[in-house]
Amino acid sequence: MSSRATAAPADQLTVRRSNLSLVLSHLRDAGPRSRARIASDTGLNKATVSSLVAELIERGLVGEGEVQRVGSVGRPGQTVELAPAGVVGVGVEVNADFVDVTALDLTHAVVLSQRTTADMRAMGEDRSIALVVRCLDEALVALGGTGCTVVGVTVAVPALVDSLRGRVALAPNLGWSGTALAEQLDAALAGHGVHVAVDNDANLGAIAEHAVGVGRDVDDLVYLAGEVGVGCGIIVGGQLVRGASGFTGEIGHAPLNHRLEVCGCGRVGCWETQVGLGVLLAGCATGPDDPVLDSDSDIDVRLEVILARAAAGDPATLATLERVGIALGLGASVLVNIVNPRALVLGGYFAVLAHHLRPYVVHTLLERVVAPEAGGVEVRTSELGFTAASRGGAVVALQGVFADPTRVPAVVRA
Ligand SMILES: [Zn+2]
Repeated sequence: MSSRATAAPADQLTVRRSNLSLVLSHLRDAGPRSRARIASDTGLNKATVSSLVAELIERGLVGEGEVQRVGSVGRPGQTVELAPAGVVGVGVEVNADFVDVTALDLTHAVVLSQRTTADMRAMGEDRSIALVVRCLDEALVALGGTGCTVVGVTVAVPALVDSLRGRVALAPNLGWSGTALAEQLDAALAGHGVHVAVDNDANLGAIAEHAVGVGRDVDDLVYLAGEVGVGCGIIVGGQLVRGASGFTGEIGHAPLNHRLEVCGCGRVGCWETQVGLGVLLAGCATGPDDPVLDSDSDIDVRLEVILARAAAGDPATLATLERVGIALGLGASVLVNIVNPRALVLGGYFAVLAHHLRPYVVHTLLERVVAPEAGGVEVRTSELGFTAASRGGAVVALQGVFADPTRVPAVVRA
């Protein structure tokens, strides 16, 4: 992929940009290495690689790493690596119970993580969006103060999202519909000079698991987001499956509950009326004043209470976990029968309570999936907790830089 001598300037720029992307992405995927190794890995010639690396250093995307000696003879090689801190992507999760902001640098290390507890459904659309603006504004000010360059913001919403237009078509558990979210956030944050994108929370959770989580080693996975609503993100052959209108993964509304309880979407019998977070909390509560129902309390703290009760052998808590676990396995078996993923990743509260829920899921999958050994699926527990969607948002915000490193201007050095 070297430039041709006869290429027109526009073509040369395109080739240069694509080679910068190739080198930067290779450092992300393969880790720090010498210029010579990058050349042999990518097939670019050494002089081209040196020039590309110099430009990536000027843009603050790459730095010099350790001196590496390969073998006992020959010159030691200076490695280059992705620059930590500096350039960051920001992800935001708008959840029924909180707003989470996470910033990742190019190495996908967490630079900032903030969660604000709020009862977003009770607050209504306008106040909720105002809170998202405040959380984002604070984060962007803090990141600017530490010298970070924010290259983009992606907001995760538990909703049917038209991601091309940045619109929330319908968010049953927030009570939003037809919300021009990207437009509103772009306008409110215009002073920061960042562009806001919007996507579905489970899609971004799946992207996070595939990029930085327990799904890094597989290209076929289903991420199940255990929140007030339950959705899934599906990755097949390394690519997120979006569907014709971008509305895949709405497994939470599969009609699996024969008791016909009313769902946030207005229908009856949806799967999330058996396995949604609200149902779990209500099932574990001993009464209306039970701390697990306190929406002012952080969700991890409330789940700790349930874990403590389960550890103490509380029969009502264990019965709820069994009921939810079996229902979780039934819905998961629908997904596994259809998608045949290598990994089924339990996210959100399913991950926090995985010690109790996972055995029921595994047992039910073996029973209900028609393929032998459940098609070889591994049930894995997310380690990203309630930050998966916001991390996925940050990963997506950074993808633009890996695709086109010239989006980040060269750093002016004194
Ligand atoms: Zn529903």
